[in-house]
Amino acid sequence: MTGVMTVGKVPDRKPEGREGPPERYPKDSKHYADPLNWKYPVHTPFHARAARRYFDNPLNRAKYTEEEQDYIDWMIDEALLRFGVVEGRSLEDRVVPFEKDLEEMDLEDLLVFFLGKDRLRRAMKIEEVSLSRKEEMIEGKVKNYPLRLDLGDKRIVHSCPDWERRSGGGLFCKHVGAAFLKLSEMEALQILKKLVIERDRWIFQMEPEVG
Ligand SMILES: [Zn+2]
Repeated sequence: MTGVMTVGKVPDRKPEGREGPPERYPKDSKHYADPLNWKYPVHTPFHARAARRYFDNPLNRAKYTEEEQDYIDWMIDEALLRFGVVEGRSLEDRVVPFEKDLEEMDLEDLLVFFLGKDRLRRAMKIEEVSLSRKEEMIEGKVKNYPLRLDLGDKRIVHSCPDWERRSGGGLFCKHVGAAFLKLSEMEALQILKKLVIERDRWIFQMEPEVG
């Protein structure tokens, strides 16, 4: 690590560490706050925020020495800063309820997690939402943008410029937010919690606009 300023000490290999990168995750260990164990990926704002949440859990921290904790904290904070998630009042997506456990999060907390506060406010103003439901499939339009929420297949298919930018990081655009606001609160909560817990298994997909 010569020439690179770091804090703490790179964590040693741990018995519960991974042998290599998880499927569909970056192959370069520099994208992991714990690089030798391939844990705490921080390659997107979404993952950096999740890493912060998980590493704030004392049970997870306890697996590391104090120096190793310093290193992981530093790596996660570096990524958050780089993505503009924690500091800087001009950036809209910085507000995340880190301090809450998933179980304690209400619908607004979860929507802020996926949207950021400003985008959530814009989602709340959208009235043109028409969705129909067939078993595990919720499908329709938000404004003129097609949207499909396939709960069985764990897939959200949508198309708009903001979704194109954000979906790769596991984040929503305002249309997807508006769709969740249209569901019953209980169902929206249930799906969003699933999305957080099973986020590696969900696919956020772009679909060409239906003209
Ligand atoms: Zn959209």
